[in-house]
Amino acid sequence: MKTRVAIIGAGPAGLLLSHLLEREGIESIVVEAKSSEFVRGRFRAGLLEAASVDVLDAAGLSAGLHKNGLQHRGIYVQWPGAKRSVDFVSLGGRPVWVYGQTELTRDISDARFAAGQQMYYNVEDVALHDVDSTAPYLTGIDATGRAIRIDADVIVGCDGFAGVSRGSIPEPIQRSYERRYPHSWLGFFADVAPSTDQIIFAWHPDGFAMHTMRSASISRFHLQVPNDDHITNWSDDRIWEATATRLGSGENGWTLHTGPITEKSILPLRCRVTTPMRHARLFLAGDAAHVVPPTGAKGLNLAIADVTLLARALGAWKRGDESLANAYSDTALRRVWRAAEFSWSWSSALHTTGDAFGDQLQLAQLEWLTSSPSGGAGLAENFSGVPIAFA
Ligand code: FAD
Repeated sequence: MKTRVAIIGAGPAGLLLSHLLEREGIESIVVEAKSSEFVRGRFRAGLLEAASVDVLDAAGLSAGLHKNGLQHRGIYVQWPGAKRSVDFVSLGGRPVWVYGQTELTRDISDARFAAGQQMYYNVEDVALHDVDSTAPYLTGIDATGRAIRIDADVIVGCDGFAGVSRGSIPEPIQRSYERRYPHSWLGFFADVAPSTDQIIFAWHPDGFAMHTMRSASISRFHLQVPNDDHITNWSDDRIWEATATRLGSGENGWTLHTGPITEKSILPLRCRVTTPMRHARLFLAGDAAHVVPPTGAKGLNLAIADVTLLARALGAWKRGDESLANAYSDTALRRVWRAAEFSWSWSSALHTTGDAFGDQLQLAQLEWLTSSPSGGAGLAENFSGVPIAFA
């Protein structure tokens, strides 16, 4: 098979890239290791920056978002004895949208199926070849056990944190920066209406807690737990008890509503950025190039920003101008590092370390962020998201 752009991975980055490329008049083929049902059912992120919504609006992919998503002007930040509402809009930022990655993935894949996108699911042993040449190609084994080969002008690795593409950038050129955090997140979904109208970020001596939502009837929570903890240590009763304590249920007239827990898991927090995001005819986008701790809700938004830049760059290249493609890695990485720094500083302000001095510094930081107009403006700007081509 021959195409202009071979895309590895049908997560949000790969699917959206194929859609944006079509609008640039560029044909692509997507290969994905998992089944379509698996990819469309996967739970993950749930907060979209205003800039991401702009991209989806312009691409004609936001009908589901505007019908079922929840627009939020800000967040609550709290610690024992204090609950502050941070209104992004009045602080110079923009509203954000709560809309599940699962729903977004379904919306984009429906659009791609309707457009007749060439997509191969259940492809095993994907390998990249000759990315240093002008005729790169990839190989794999399709769902029927047949060997496939896709020749392309460029290959884009949208294959996430555990993908194969990143390995095709040779070691002397590739550099990875990594930070592992001393805590993990226990995340769970519950079939219960949210007990809040905006996301709650809570500092508590027992550890960070977060209350978000997927819809008017599904709530999502995260609890800070040690890295060596295991989900079998957390019965549903223990989870609700810890959540109620950390979120301050029963205080100041606020009550946490509980319900059946439908899914629970523990996710280690880490940040890893791989540079460069382009090597010869190979480009990386989304989690294939970078993962950030989810506290700042940036992973999905960075994936959307990367492929927006990349589709523009490949469109310009098709018209004879390679400058945007040459600048892609540097342009994308400026936004990636801004998100990495914000995710790091926001995580650091909220996750307890057992150090009494550190606790007081965190509380001083939260007080400043939620009471000073300049502190609040920075929080609002980072949460709402910097422009796609951030400079
Ligand atoms: P992915 O969604 O990972 O998609 C990559 C695709 O490539 C997958 O479909 C995979 O099957 C496929 N693939 C992998 N290897 C191969 C191969 N060899 N061949 C072919 N296909 C391959 N972000 C937030 O902002 N907020 C959150 O609350 C949040 N929670 C998260 C929870 C979890 C458990 C995880 C893992 C991530 C979370 N994230 C969160 C991050 C966010 O979901 C990602 O940033 C986002 O999915 C990135 O999209 P992507 O398309 O780049 O990568």
